[in-house]
Amino acid sequence: MTQTADLDRDARRTLDLLGPAPDNWVPDRPGVDHNVFIVGAGQTGCAFAFALRRAGIGRVSVIDAAADATKAGVWLNRARMNKLRTPKTLVGPEGGLPGLSFRAWYEARFGAASYQDIDRIPRERWAEYLAWYREFLEIPVRYGTRLVRIEPKGTHFALHLEVDGVARVETARKVLLCNGVAGNGGAFVPAVLKNLPPQLVAHTSGAIDFAALRGKSVAVLGERPLRSMPPRPRSKQAQRTCICSRAVRRSRPRPYHARGPIRAHTTTTSICPMRCVGRRRCVSNARVRRRRRIRSNA
Ligand SMILES: Cc1cc2nc3c(=O)[nH]c(=O)nc-3n(C[C@H](O)[C@H](O)[C@H](O)COP(=O)(O)OP(=O)(O)OC[C@H]3O[C@@H](n4cnc5c(N)ncnc54)[C@H](O)[C@@H]3O)c2cc1C
Repeated sequence: MTQTADLDRDARRTLDLLGPAPDNWVPDRPGVDHNVFIVGAGQTGCAFAFALRRAGIGRVSVIDAAADATKAGVWLNRARMNKLRTPKTLVGPEGGLPGLSFRAWYEARFGAASYQDIDRIPRERWAEYLAWYREFLEIPVRYGTRLVRIEPKGTHFALHLEVDGVARVETARKVLLCNGVAGNGGAFVPAVLKNLPPQLVAHTSGAIDFAALRGKSVAVLGERPLRSMPPRPRSKQAQRTCICSRAVRRSRPRPYHARGPIRAHTTTTSICPMRCVGRRRCVSNARVRRRRRIRSNA
């Protein structure tokens, strides 16, 4: 594969054609530190930071609770699938500028043919692209800075922060919450499992010792975690895998990377239903009961 010397040529040309970002046209207000305060430096926060710059809105601050860039966002942490679920052609943080797109970035490094070959974007490549996006566009991020409370203060907001563990208050006119999965609530472990020893229960948001599952029977609670589990531990290392879900969704397609036999049970119980602890709600048993009822009525 022939690589161009300047991998960022298209991106540079795009910025060149756009011209310099306009100067900040938002008048300063006494007592207000930031025009816009962006919470979260994942793909959403960085895309907003760039868009605001291009719109001539200055004094924008981006914070992230993560200690550094590798810990921010989901892609190198809780997301464990090999490829993104979303099609590779979906618009990303490039904001309509093809030279800043994943495709331009990928083709410059791996070639156009390679881009045609991939059906979906490999997760780690997406993480690399986002890191490049942030660095190339020089989006400054204050890592190790967590927003803990927002307080209305006249025409603006007082933002209660923890900077490397130290409390601090800053003010902003507007706040953009780009805090991703953390913004949708925290990790939830059902009460019945909470007191189990840590080696027996794990949440997908944390580290999981997959090698330790080899040869064991594993119960996966909820369908969503399927997407963050690599197929190998699920179907090969673990002796038996059982998927439990609160809702019956028989029409739901299996995740694209699901391989091997997976027995789907549907139960409200939080205990491994490998032996159908939650018989009352088990789909297969419900079917058996329905057949028996039909036979006894006939
Ligand atoms: C397992 C998994 C798989 C996924 N697969 C896909 C997929 O294939 N395709 C897809 O489009 N989407 C997928 N998603 C959704 C994915 O999370 C989003 O598309 C994407 O990460 C959203 O980016 P974001 O910047 O909004 O949030 P995130 O990437 O989650 O970033 C949010 C940032 O906010 C920071 N933050 C949170 N709270 C605070 C706070 N109080 N103070 C300061 N900083 C804070 C966090 O540290 C984090 O860095 C997946 C999600 C998960 C969990």
